[in-house]
Amino acid sequence: MIDSGFVINNAMTQGLDVIGDRWALLILRDAFLGRSRFEEFRQHTGASRATLTRRLESLIAADVLYKRSYSSSGKRFEYKLTEKGMGLFSSSLLSWQWERDWTDVSPDVLPPALFHTSCGHSLTPCAVCRHCNQALEIDDIEWPALNTGLDKQLSDIQLFNKRRVRSSAVSGQQDRSLTYVSDLVGDRWTLLLLITAFLGISRYDTFIKQLGISTNILSDRLNLLVEVDIFERNNYQENPPRSEYKLTTKGKSLYPLVMAMRQWVIDWLPTPDPSEKLIHKNCGKALAVDVVCDSCGQKPWVKDVNFVVQ
Ligand SMILES: [Zn+2]
Ligand SMILES: [Zn+2]
Repeated sequence: MIDSGFVINNAMTQGLDVIGDRWALLILRDAFLGRSRFEEFRQHTGASRATLTRRLESLIAADVLYKRSYSSSGKRFEYKLTEKGMGLFSSSLLSWQWERDWTDVSPDVLPPALFHTSCGHSLTPCAVCRHCNQALEIDDIEWPALNTGLDKQLSDIQLFNKRRVRSSAVSGQQDRSLTYVSDLVGDRWTLLLLITAFLGISRYDTFIKQLGISTNILSDRLNLLVEVDIFERNNYQENPPRSEYKLTTKGKSLYPLVMAMRQWVIDWLPTPDPSEKLIHKNCGKALAVDVVCDSCGQKPWVKDVNFVVQ
């Protein structure tokens, strides 16, 4: 008998098996921007050859990318998105939107605007409920009851890189790069802290109980999330001192992205238990998330989106 909180966490973290670190996310971002060759990825992600080779292999093994020869000699290869990889486009659009709204990414890394050719408008991606089409709001979801079984699950997670260094960010951008989406959702602890915060958890002790996280990692990630203005720290007790951590507007705005990632896991990976359900209160149906163009309400496909370079 698997209880619901356990499974929910599983579905979310399963996605991390595949897209589970900042390098993989950066490669995917580049793939959606039309980049496909090793040197292009290397130049734009800033990854070392060894790291890039490993991540590309992992993404191929996960059936997110495939490799094909583009030279007549058959010795040069490019990396293209599979259909399953294309399924991550929704999340990628929301990452783009979030970074546009909240960070200061240079235009040669991230295009400043997107254009939806099928409706002729600039594209603002919007996460909606697949059943009732209403825009997703953080308070509109009914979460299953919490439990304390999360830690066991976490120990089973296979990440690409177990020996990760948190601030292994692109050189010369140490602080700012920490606020990139890939740094937040590409680190399993910050992602899990975000998810538990979406569930309404805000206290140090409860984070420990829910996540089975060690106190030094928890303090480190909480400090980071406060530093980059995702969480706001408030003292709710003087003696002994106790703090709680609430999502800021910037933190809350990661919610549609995390839910779109969860949807990809449900749509593309075998889920262990179909009983895992979040209910969309507005329509009473099991939550399924689509990302649509704010102007025309249609789901944008990769071929219908132009990246406007200024
Ligand atoms: Zn709905
Ligand atoms: Zn449109």
